Amino acid sequence: MTSTDLPMSDLTAQGDRAFKDYETLRAQGRSLDLTRGKPALEQLDISRELLTLPGDRWTASDGTDCRNYGGLKGLPELREIFAPVLQVPAERLLAVGNSSLELMHDCLVHALLSEVPGAARRWVDDERIAFLCPVPGYDRHFALCERFGMELISVPMTDEGPDMDVVERLVATDPAVKGIWCVPKYSNPTGVSYSDEVVERLASMPTAAPDFRIFWDNAYAVHHLTDEEVEIRDVLAASEAHGHPDRPLVFGSTSKITFAGAGVGFFGASQSNVDWLISKSSKRSIGPDKLNQLRHALFLQDSEGVRAHMLKQRALLQPKFELVQQILERELGGTGLARWTSPKGGYFITLQLVHGGASEVVRLAGEAGTALTPAGATHPYGVDPDDATIRIAPSYPSIEDLEHAVVSLAVCVRLVGYEQLLA
Ligand code: PLP
Repeated sequence: MTSTDLPMSDLTAQGDRAFKDYETLRAQGRSLDLTRGKPALEQLDISRELLTLPGDRWTASDGTDCRNYGGLKGLPELREIFAPVLQVPAERLLAVGNSSLELMHDCLVHALLSEVPGAARRWVDDERIAFLCPVPGYDRHFALCERFGMELISVPMTDEGPDMDVVERLVATDPAVKGIWCVPKYSNPTGVSYSDEVVERLASMPTAAPDFRIFWDNAYAVHHLTDEEVEIRDVLAASEAHGHPDRPLVFGSTSKITFAGAGVGFFGASQSNVDWLISKSSKRSIGPDKLNQLRHALFLQDSEGVRAHMLKQRALLQPKFELVQQILERELGGTGLARWTSPKGGYFITLQLVHGGASEVVRLAGEAGTALTPAGATHPYGVDPDDATIRIAPSYPSIEDLEHAVVSLAVCVRLVGYEQLLA
């Protein structure tokens, strides 16, 4: 029996219990943060050896002196390591900077100011530019588009990726639609991995814009949480096969592999897109931090090294994700008030409130000391029309703090849910 089937007297009793639990929480006066998907300190410690690397070495495999300017493409040995991880041939994979988000930002800016391969003109010369945003999605993707005055069009997520019937219709008819944001594996925040069919359809669909781009942000390519290490279809190969080699721009980084903010960003694409980006970024930089790249290459060794390293990450993260599942099941299971995802990888769990009220839940949780990502952050313009989605980021808090924070969240869901049903 779910809460909607309960007689009024039982609902009142549940509401009273939730209220008492909430008052108890507030009285405890704790302060916790479930907002951003940051690695925990123990996760950072796994990469501690990086702090002593590259030692007194500075020469890369091709003889490059990493202490000096140059080498816009990044070190070959690091690109070799990440080529299979990101499904990009090493010669078309760039290792640049410390952040994939910066590379996405730069690609948008360069596309606005200089024609991308296949474009009739610069994006800034178009009256309207729109991006498709699978929702729920990553707030920073949406914020980038907003920053540059691009229109955000929501597309519903399914269990296999964006709803392709909607995507195909929009891209076929509207030449202002220049791109789509995709987090294809263990998506932020739903944990969904794109099915082969979705990747094929993205790669093959006709688009009204000749310069349409898929921003393929493979941020969680090796961030497995179970024995089932999900593989996704190679979007570059699929797009090439369907005659659209320039369509995907692939992004990734070591932010959640080694040190967040002190790692390495990656960009991969067709040769013409790679040449395009290099020609623009050569004005902006005389070369990346190759010493950081060298120490990453020495530390991770090869793709198997990345895998072994990620197993250590998993050992720390998996118990936290399992704990969240247990608490949500114990506190909310069978109430009919909420549903939640059980991701096989990535950094987030999505909680969906059946009757809405997410903003109120976030507000109440904040007043009781648990900071949550603002409701609506997972949607374009920060507005979730159903006010239903809450993103849980379990990585950073200790197990003890996480337990307290998720119990608090569940109490607030019950409080708001029963209040709504009693209203
Ligand atoms: N892309 C996604 C989907 C993310 O979730 C994040 C961080 O949370 C980033 C990119 C940021 O990556 P980077 O640190 O490489 O800029």
